[in-house]
Amino acid sequence: MLNEEHEALRASVREFAHDVIAPVIAKHYDNHTFPYDIVAAMGKMGLFGLPFAEEHGGMGGDYFALCLALEELARVDSSVAITLEAAVSLGAMPVYRFGTEEQKRRWLPPLLRGESLAAFGLTEPGFGSDAGGTATRAVLDGDEWVINGAKAFITNSGTDITSFVTVTAVTGTRADGSKELSTIIVPSGTPGFTVAPGYSKVGWCASDTHELTFEDVRVPAENLLGERGRGFAQFLRILDEGRIAIAALSVGLAQGCVDESIRYAKDRQAFGQPIAGFQAIQFKIADMEKRAHLARLAYYDAAREMLAGRDFKRQAAIAKLYASESAVDNARDATQIHGGYGFMNEFPVARFWRDSKILEIGEGTSEIQRLVIARDLGLVA
Ligand SMILES: Cc1cc2nc3c(=O)[nH]c(=O)nc-3n(C[C@H](O)[C@H](O)[C@H](O)COP(=O)(O)OP(=O)(O)OC[C@H]3O[C@@H](n4cnc5c(N)ncnc54)[C@H](O)[C@@H]3O)c2cc1C
Repeated sequence: MLNEEHEALRASVREFAHDVIAPVIAKHYDNHTFPYDIVAAMGKMGLFGLPFAEEHGGMGGDYFALCLALEELARVDSSVAITLEAAVSLGAMPVYRFGTEEQKRRWLPPLLRGESLAAFGLTEPGFGSDAGGTATRAVLDGDEWVINGAKAFITNSGTDITSFVTVTAVTGTRADGSKELSTIIVPSGTPGFTVAPGYSKVGWCASDTHELTFEDVRVPAENLLGERGRGFAQFLRILDEGRIAIAALSVGLAQGCVDESIRYAKDRQAFGQPIAGFQAIQFKIADMEKRAHLARLAYYDAAREMLAGRDFKRQAAIAKLYASESAVDNARDATQIHGGYGFMNEFPVARFWRDSKILEIGEGTSEIQRLVIARDLGLVA
């Protein structure tokens, strides 16, 4: 599936991750600081524009290219990888897919150069998986939307270069009594839009995550993204795609665990030999490689279905489910192979361990992926 361009991209991102990210990321992680320099360098490499058409300032690549880049970044660090994933798949993509020409012209070019970031606000303090629970409301008052509500855990929403957050909100009631959901662009700094201090997180410590509140926030009516009432369909599409990207990121972390475990096992001595000589260690690493490899095939398959224009919901859910669980399993085994040093933050596997769990939660929990698969198999009404 990899053509020459994909191979070249993979090689250059791998080199970048080793040369630029690896030497400095532990410091950002420990200090919970956002790696602006790394983001700027990724922008110069064109990573933020990968899956977008050249006419909008993109690199003319495809979603699979983005996934390859995410895998290579996450092989070294997941905070940087999720920053790119959220910026592209949740930030710029909704505007690219559903925005008007004017919205694309205004917002996309700096996003695709990595000079600004955008965020997607779906989750609220009171719900995540059950989007029907959306309580944030937007009311049209003349030629302005007036927004009230709150969003929780929103990635890239509070950096110095965040330009807007796309917010899902209830904009009315349908004939059948259900909520009408729409998505609206809220520029950073709009009066009444407050970004809370960053969360204290278990992992992804160098990525940016905030709770947001909206108190009588007024934005122009033309900030509506796509058609009014299409919010539900829009975020389902964005999340289906995003699951392939999170699967790729999970594969990167799973493979990084293999890399670190091989390195350590060849070096660490016990009972007069490197621990790599023990079959128990060899089998653990063989199982880790098996999981990373199969998870990679799963996301390649989902990406192929998506790019062929076929229904890819089931494949994306399978890839996300299997890859995220493989990442958690590999992180646990890699830590075990490192013994006591695996519990020390100075070793990359400690970061992998802390960063792995969220992969089973974000952009749809493992339970929700199983629900999507079961529904696609006709088991759930
Ligand atoms: C670091 C981080 C970054 C994030 N970034 C973003 C972002 O940028 N934008 C955004 O909108 N959101 C973001 N999220 C939110 C994330 O997508 C949600 O946390 C996730 O979807 C789960 O929602 P929840 O936390 O409300 O859990 P809940 O939905 O409350 O689920 C709690 C538990 O119940 C289970 N459950 C729920 N419903 C069912 C069911 N029907 N059947 C079986 N089990 C069920 C879940 O699987 C889970 O185990 C982020 C979260 C984190 C932690």
